[in-house]
Amino acid sequence: MQTTIRSAISFQGVGLHSGEPAKLTIRPAMAEHGIWFKRTDISLGDTLVPARYDVVESSPLCTLIKNAAGVSVSTIEHVMAALAGCGIHNALIEIDGPECPILDGSSAPFVRGILSRGVRELTAPVRAIEILSPVSVHTAHGWARLSPEQGTTMSFHIDFDDKAIGVQDKRLNLANGSFVRELCDSRTFCRASDVDAMRAAGKALGGTYENAVVVDGDKILSPGGLRHQDEAVRHKMLDALGDLSLAGAPILGHYEGHKAGHAITNALLREVFANPDAFRIVLCDDVMAARLPGAGVERHEVPAVA
Ligand SMILES: [Zn+2]
Repeated sequence: MQTTIRSAISFQGVGLHSGEPAKLTIRPAMAEHGIWFKRTDISLGDTLVPARYDVVESSPLCTLIKNAAGVSVSTIEHVMAALAGCGIHNALIEIDGPECPILDGSSAPFVRGILSRGVRELTAPVRAIEILSPVSVHTAHGWARLSPEQGTTMSFHIDFDDKAIGVQDKRLNLANGSFVRELCDSRTFCRASDVDAMRAAGKALGGTYENAVVVDGDKILSPGGLRHQDEAVRHKMLDALGDLSLAGAPILGHYEGHKAGHAITNALLREVFANPDAFRIVLCDDVMAARLPGAGVERHEVPAVA
């Protein structure tokens, strides 16, 4: 069955790139509502923005959605990953600023909050997007592919010159709450050498050593070090799940990312939906639903993080 959050929960913090404070509230919604954002700081015009791949504006550093009236919300990927990883299909996300709070740089605070309120089953069956034939997108920077698979699985490869990151590979079946156990607490990361350029471009203004893992060569500059030895690739998978959830329904398929990022994953979804033969919408029976991210996830499974 489709789900929503049992009762509303709020989060407060600054945006990673804008540095602007914002309060974000996840509210319950009816079946077939989907996930929508609502800008509560804007009183005129259409303030609702659907969390959907076809309203994503190209942005290498974060995922930004914008409605026809020009109202936008940015850095939605970590809260979207939390909802997808907890198996929430319907919610209204109110926000009083242009960018989602970055909190600790991971999805763990969102996951902990969502699971503290609980997941409510609704009276409509879950629809999933079943991938029928491989679809891929290649760019000069990397590539991504979706292929047929009975469940939701993911593999990711990254390769950074900085020795503190280096080459990392991970493969994961996202069934049975493994997003919550294995990915949700991995934080966003950046290279110290990129910080000045991002700041000069008006980005990363809310970034700190506490809400991002900053690496410099073989050194981790953030105090406390890493939460996982391969935290970087885990965070790339977290981002990918958040970006894939903008398909509007869970995906039954295998996602492969090779040095991919937000723009490539969004281009991949556009490619899928431009190819009607590559997918079909299926109503999930219990067996299929049990293979989706979030099925059976429990609150105590959220990793304890500092
Ligand atoms: Zn991220």
